Formats: sequence, structure tokens, C-alpha cells
Amino acid sequence: MEAKAQGRAGERVSGSCLCGAVEFSVALPTLFCGHCHCTMCQRNHGAAYVTWFGVPWEQFSLDKGQDQLVRHASSDHGTRSFCGCCGSSLFCESTKHSDHVDIVLANMHASIDRSPQFHFYWDDRADWTRIGDELPRLGGGSGEEPVEE
Ligand SMILES: [Zn+2]
Ligand SMILES: [Zn+2]
Repeated sequence: MEAKAQGRAGERVSGSCLCGAVEFSVALPTLFCGHCHCTMCQRNHGAAYVTWFGVPWEQFSLDKGQDQLVRHASSDHGTRSFCGCCGSSLFCESTKHSDHVDIVLANMHASIDRSPQFHFYWDDRADWTRIGDELPRLGGGSGEEPVEE
């Protein structure tokens, strides 16, 4: 798995919103991939949780639809962007991690170089869904601390 991931370094994977107005691509390798259970992600996506991955800004390219991209400051440190035509949630940037951009995995057209590695903001998860996997569950105030269950 490690070796396979390394073998894809430099490979570009493209993605888009639902309507195709916004297209982007990233160069592998990615930094991480995880399921976020925070309430902002829940409301923003109308879903129980959202799977994000991160790449350094220099590996990200917005290829089409710059003028369709709507930016929403969802917290004092985070800005989410979505397609103004179809509403697809696309990216999240934060002053807490200004080196990289978070990207919604579901918008990619092909697999990236890793599977989801953990759940974060576990304490905020929706109580109407059940998670049965063995991935580490992180929560607490930062959303990224080990959770005792
Ligand atoms: Zn769109
Ligand atoms: Zn979230």
C-alpha cells in the first residue's frame, strides 16, 4: 500500500462539482483522508458525515469555474466554498492549516492514493447513523483527540 501510494506521486487526479461548472485537480501524494462528523459538515452537506482529504496548496489547481465558486466563512478560521450553480460543497480552507486545502473526496473522478484513515469530531456525530468500521475515532474540543468509548 505504501509502495503503491509512493508510485503514484506526481499523478494528477481530477474532480468536479455535480453540474461540472467547477473543475479542479490535485497532484498526489495527499496528506491525509478522514471522515468528519462535525455539525457544520452535517448541515453543509445534508449528510451524517463528510469525507475530506488534504493536499498542499501547491499541488492543487482550480481548472475551471473560478467565477462559479462561492466562498462562505463558516467559522472564525474556516472558509468553505461551493458551486454557485449546483451547490456542491467543494473545498475548505482554514487559517489553522494555511499550508493545505481540504477537498471533498466524493467530488473526485478517480481514487486518490489512500483510503479514509480515521473519524474526527466523533463526539458531534449524528445519532441516527451507525458506523461499523475499525478506524480510529477522534474527538474532544479539537475534534482530533483520541476518544474513550
Ligand atoms: Zn456545479
Ligand atoms: Zn466537519
